[in-house]
Amino acid sequence: MKSTVVGSFPSRESSPSNFKDKLLNTFGSYDPFKQAIKDSVTSQLDAGVDIISDGQVRGDMVSIFTEYIPGMKIEEGNTFIVGKIRNPTQEISIKDLQYAKKVMADYYGGKIPEGKGIKGIITGPNTIVHSSRITSFYKNKEDAIIDLAHSLKVEADAIAKKVKPSYIQIDEPFLSTGMVDMKTAREAIGIIKDGLEVPLGMHVCGILKDAFKDLTKFDVDILDFEFAGNNVNLGVLEENASLISNKKIGFGCVDSSVNTVDDIEDIDNLVSKAIEIVGKDNILLDPDCGLRRAPEDVAFEKLRLMNQIKDKYNNS
Ligand SMILES: [Zn+2]
Repeated sequence: MKSTVVGSFPSRESSPSNFKDKLLNTFGSYDPFKQAIKDSVTSQLDAGVDIISDGQVRGDMVSIFTEYIPGMKIEEGNTFIVGKIRNPTQEISIKDLQYAKKVMADYYGGKIPEGKGIKGIITGPNTIVHSSRITSFYKNKEDAIIDLAHSLKVEADAIAKKVKPSYIQIDEPFLSTGMVDMKTAREAIGIIKDGLEVPLGMHVCGILKDAFKDLTKFDVDILDFEFAGNNVNLGVLEENASLISNKKIGFGCVDSSVNTVDDIEDIDNLVSKAIEIVGKDNILLDPDCGLRRAPEDVAFEKLRLMNQIKDKYNNS
């Protein structure tokens, strides 16, 4: 049993404090988020997380991608689809992932140990299109989703090749809402998965009662859901356990919707049920969702307790 995070971590922009940073700032090349990535990686590693993220510290999950995708435009925080969606104008998350991986290697004295790693995270085409407004070119969301899947596939392949992550995760919170055409959604994820050199995971938060069966048919290696913050999903997983025998489960076991530290007995109970249902080797423990909104010390403590429970069962 390994542990991971869903992705985002509390972060703040820093301002240049030493001479080198001030000089970089003068030339517009100071990066106010570099320290946040380092802090997020270190905090995850201190807490015992096996597969870390770069903390997704740069901003909201839609605009960090759409900013670089032709056909999409951001205006006052809203995203619009204004033309044909094409391949990204540049690599989007590679530099941050490479930096996070370097911080991780340094943490371990130069070499990342076996069983530890980093993951790349991409906001899914269904979620991006459903949170955008189409103002021209596309007559329906489905065509935009397929074009966006091809565009995001370029980023996914680049991450696989250049970062060599443990896996790539697609975030698709909209898939539990009932608003998304599941056939298109499955086709879109299939486009990203096609020929991908590393395993693919998909994170879907929310209540799964209606979506679960459909989600088990997606061509992914890991399905990641929340189980701490709602009392419906565990029953759904138990009823349908036979449908996920060929997949691993990302098992959200701490509640990311509250900014207090979870009760360790609650985590323990949940994890023991997960082991009963899907087996220790098929579980990746993680929080329900991103931890962006939690205070840093609370986010750390949630991860630490989660890993304490992981160790308890791994050593038993
Ligand atoms: Zn989520």
